[in-house]
Amino acid sequence: MDIQKIGVVGAGQMGNGIAHVLAVAGYDVLLNDLDADALEKALATIDKNLERQVSRGKLAEADKAAALSRITTTLDLPELGQTDLVIESATERESVKQAIFETLVPHLEPHTILTSNTSSISITRLASGTDRPEKFMGFHFMNPVPIMQLVELIRGIATDKETYDACLKVVEKLGKTAASAEDFPAFIVNRILMPMINEAVYTLYEGVGNVNSIDQSMKLGANHPMGPLELADFIGLDTCLAIMNVLHDGLADTKYRPCPLLTKYVEAGWLGRKTGRGFYDYRGETPVPTR
Ligand code: NAD
Repeated sequence: MDIQKIGVVGAGQMGNGIAHVLAVAGYDVLLNDLDADALEKALATIDKNLERQVSRGKLAEADKAAALSRITTTLDLPELGQTDLVIESATERESVKQAIFETLVPHLEPHTILTSNTSSISITRLASGTDRPEKFMGFHFMNPVPIMQLVELIRGIATDKETYDACLKVVEKLGKTAASAEDFPAFIVNRILMPMINEAVYTLYEGVGNVNSIDQSMKLGANHPMGPLELADFIGLDTCLAIMNVLHDGLADTKYRPCPLLTKYVEAGWLGRKTGRGFYDYRGETPVPTR
């Protein structure tokens, strides 16, 4: 099947990156959010990020203009029913995602493929609430989307081959690389990454190290490009906590229990970069550790 028009639900940090790369690759993008400010901010971010690619000689000015012209925004979710593929990238909460698919289903074209960029929630369970579990799968981008090479493609129990192949073609057209994962909690990347981040928070919680020493240890001692706490702030501490809860509930193993300190930061609304404060305070010139 030929995919040309793609709907993206959620214009947050992931949704805007997804819209960006799809538009650059030549797809028509319809970007939805329930918050008009989020849509406006997303367009400004896409513009800024495209401009950065132009200034680095990675994109021609005309291609930037063409990409921007391919992105349309809407507050009306049912409008996305007219697209060939929907990539849902709203807040990492199952009830939010289920409500989105429930609203969309009556308006979908028969051929429309539904996907979710969820970091951890069961694809099979999300699919079962729709009219087309065979045309439903996980389409998991990494953050920041324009830079990261990998896309995890996750088959639900009912996903058919045609759907998988159509999504694989999109990944290839984006110039990215797909890794196929089975539908178990948090799939591959986050199954391995999140327990490490959670362990870093435990290391902080127990006073084994402070924010600086933990991040420096993993950068210089394990050759990670970012420290785990810096990375957690980048991902969003609410998203990290949500993923740990999915691992804990889904695999029923206490080794996945979220660190109470991670919960406390989320309760405080210190969600990382996106709210200006997390394990670091980003409100000044340079990030300052908060512990
Ligand atoms: P975010 O908080 O930056 O953005 C979420 C957006 O969804 C917000 O703009 C919000 O207004 C919107 N939204 C909420 N409910 C909605 C609804 N009913 N309809 C339309 N829009 C709605 O979050 P994010 O980091 O962009 O994460 C989005 C998804 O991507 C999550 O499922 C997350 O797990 C996944 N993801 C995140 C990362 C990461 O590093 N942050 C990486 C890979 C995947």
